[in-house]
Amino acid sequence: MLADKDRIFTNLYGQDDWGLEAARKRGDWSNTAEIIAKGRDAIIAEMKASGLRGRGGAGFPTGLKWSFMPKQSDGRPHYLVINGDESEPGTCKDREVMRHEPHKLIESAMIASFAMGAHASYIYIRGEFCREAERLQAAIDEAYAAGLLGKNAAGSGWDFDFRIHRGAGAYICGEETALLESLEGKKGQPRMKPPFPAGVGLYGCPTTVNNVESIAVTSTIMRRGAAWFAGLGRPNNAGSKLMAISGHVNTPCVFEEELGVPLKEIIEKHGGGVRGGWDNLLAVIPGGCSVPLLPKSICETVLMDYDSLRAERSGLGTACMIVMDKSTDIVKAIARFSKFFKHESCGQCTPCREGTGWMMRMMDRMVQGKADIEEIDLLEQVTRQVEGHTICALGDAAAWPIQGLIRHFRPEMEERIRQYKAAYGSTGLVQVPAGGVPVAVE
Ligand code: SF4
Repeated sequence: MLADKDRIFTNLYGQDDWGLEAARKRGDWSNTAEIIAKGRDAIIAEMKASGLRGRGGAGFPTGLKWSFMPKQSDGRPHYLVINGDESEPGTCKDREVMRHEPHKLIESAMIASFAMGAHASYIYIRGEFCREAERLQAAIDEAYAAGLLGKNAAGSGWDFDFRIHRGAGAYICGEETALLESLEGKKGQPRMKPPFPAGVGLYGCPTTVNNVESIAVTSTIMRRGAAWFAGLGRPNNAGSKLMAISGHVNTPCVFEEELGVPLKEIIEKHGGGVRGGWDNLLAVIPGGCSVPLLPKSICETVLMDYDSLRAERSGLGTACMIVMDKSTDIVKAIARFSKFFKHESCGQCTPCREGTGWMMRMMDRMVQGKADIEEIDLLEQVTRQVEGHTICALGDAAAWPIQGLIRHFRPEMEERIRQYKAAYGSTGLVQVPAGGVPVAVE
């Protein structure tokens, strides 16, 4: 469990003031010029040594990502773009940074931008986060007034500008290349990769896109050292992480915790336990809604980190868990996600555009049990046709929750179908050609 002395976000709940003076007392902006004076290579080496992995969901090593930026400019400006779109259902952690620790984010953005040769950074904030954008803008204004941004920012000799761009409500704009398209004023649709943003990003210039939390921890890592950060958590799963618990717990909350702590312990300690007691637990979705759920049996022992959850065929995602007790209609819950992904698909690639609709319609029938048992396999096949066959990860995100449902709750799905058949007779929804694959008739 994370000790208080190791907390990075010491004003996560806004009990202290967010403004510059209070932020300075908490240690922000204390020796920014000294950190910058270490040089680009030293900062990137320190971030690599810290073992920090991207906090937005993918878990890619942050220092390594920074090192992909060109060492010398070919005349094009470099950019750091911060992803504050935070639209994943169940996820609400970055907004706490934006509204309660804005100066930690701005200072860290400056250090990270310097390390990548960027004189400008943009933060793309979810449109619905009105107050967060206002608060961050107020902090930016304070920083400009104090000489911490602009020419010779914080007396470092580095010119640095920081700007806010507000989104308009599309989930897909959280995907890094769709975010860049949207930032350029275009329709938010993901780009084909390669080229990757480090080569051709914002306005065709070298760009790194990082999650709010990944950037916000930079200043503390540079102050306290890579060894301190790497000493928290487990090997390959270093550091502390902002997490959240929503759903059927007694005290839903956002908190900072060390990676590698047992999921059960986290729910008991931070979430106040499952509503009705641990034995009333049905399942947990560990990171937003796009990773496969975990049934109670796995929740008993699994650790909350990238590798442990991957070993259970799920993922850490955003580490914002959704806890569901036994009152949950699990099929209906996953069907609701299918509807969400269908709605948010940008429609640019066929497997996602068509597949999310197929999955949603089949899941809607599964909720009623108005299906044939063979259709569970057919549904699984549809998810496999979508997974890995699309431009961006939304296709995978739509497929995985259903795969998790079938993997862990297939008997419940079958029972529902049997009950429907017993009540209403055969659904007649599936034709099975001799020796062929079952085909749904809609
Ligand atoms: Fe758009 Fe879906 Fe293709 Fe992503 S996977 S680019 S959201 S159609």
